[in-house]
Amino acid sequence: MRLVFLGAPGVGKGTQAEMVSAKYGIPKISTGDLLRAAVAQQTSLGKEAKQYMDRGDLVPDKVVIGLVEEKIGTSECGKGFILDGFPRTVPQADSLAGLLVGKGLSLCRVIYFVITREEVINRLSGRRNCSRCPAVYHLEFVPSKKEGICDECGGELMQLSDDRKETVESRLTVYEEQTFPLIEYYREKNLLAELDGSGSVGSVQGRLIALLSKS
Ligand code: AMP
Repeated sequence: MRLVFLGAPGVGKGTQAEMVSAKYGIPKISTGDLLRAAVAQQTSLGKEAKQYMDRGDLVPDKVVIGLVEEKIGTSECGKGFILDGFPRTVPQADSLAGLLVGKGLSLCRVIYFVITREEVINRLSGRRNCSRCPAVYHLEFVPSKKEGICDECGGELMQLSDDRKETVESRLTVYEEQTFPLIEYYREKNLLAELDGSGSVGSVQGRLIALLSKS
């Protein structure tokens, strides 16, 4: 099962990818997570990536392609993988295709999560992450019991720099300009399946499982 989850930032692809990963036993490869880890570890790649991420811009293709190539080559991906947030540009999609062809593989499906701009802004600008553990909250939809404090570990909740309203707006513009062409790209290859990304995590999950079990 080799899947790509495509859609605007904040559509919930990451959450759904976690669930599919656990259900089918295939790893989720999130370039956003890999980049944030590199930033946190202050590697040279992380330092380079941070400037782009803070502005809401895309990190250069060659950096992210290298990260994905490294992951796809591991035995962990033997049964397949879910790419979350990659590819985001046509050159990234071409590189992915080349990388897979080189291994005698191809993509099975590209799931396109459809959502409105307003819903994305609302979801992302309300998101809060724990500064100590991986827990994620939302001011409106998934509030912590005590404001600003993580229910799991008592850590302080914070807003990721790329979730600030101004950054979200520019991430959306970047998405519309650079990632939108991938919808047609994959539709022409008969790989695209559209999924309504609105509503609760559970309702999107139900639609996604139904879609995946059809193929
Ligand atoms: P995400 O968590 O997927 O929304 O990614 C957070 C940020 O990481 C994005 O706003 C980009 O700056 C960067 N990023 C993640 N994936 C990619 C990618 N495939 N190409 C370029 N930049 C990326």
